[in-house]
Amino acid sequence: MIEKCKCIMCPVGCEIEIITDEKGAVIDIKGGLCDRGRNYALERMKRKAQILTTTVRLSEPVGQVRVVPVKSLEPVDVSDMRDAIRTLKEITVTPPVKAGDVIAENVLGKGITVVATRSIGHLDKETVY
Ligand code: SF4
Repeated sequence: MIEKCKCIMCPVGCEIEIITDEKGAVIDIKGGLCDRGRNYALERMKRKAQILTTTVRLSEPVGQVRVVPVKSLEPVDVSDMRDAIRTLKEITVTPPVKAGDVIAENVLGKGITVVATRSIGHLDKETVY
């Protein structure tokens, strides 16, 4: 995808094109006469999409632990963040959970994959809290 914006860092007002892949990751930035324009475009994209981080409930507690921390593999549009977190609050995961395990796929039908960021439960002869 190509998103166009106007750099506002100086009066020249260069037109900038931000090229992203299907998941919103920046592939290239074109236009702009200097690095300030490039940085402006990157910051603009960062504000627009961020890595989602939240927790998902365990179906049964492991010691005192009742949730597993999770994150999205790719940046999520800020406008989708609240709905995505609400969706994740409705699911439970059965321990043990290993860091990197996929917890949810295609969240909101938008290809958002969410993985655990911490191991919890009985793994490799050891209980991790
Ligand atoms: S890219 Fe550089 S020259 Fe162009 S508007 Fe931004 S700051 Fe000004």
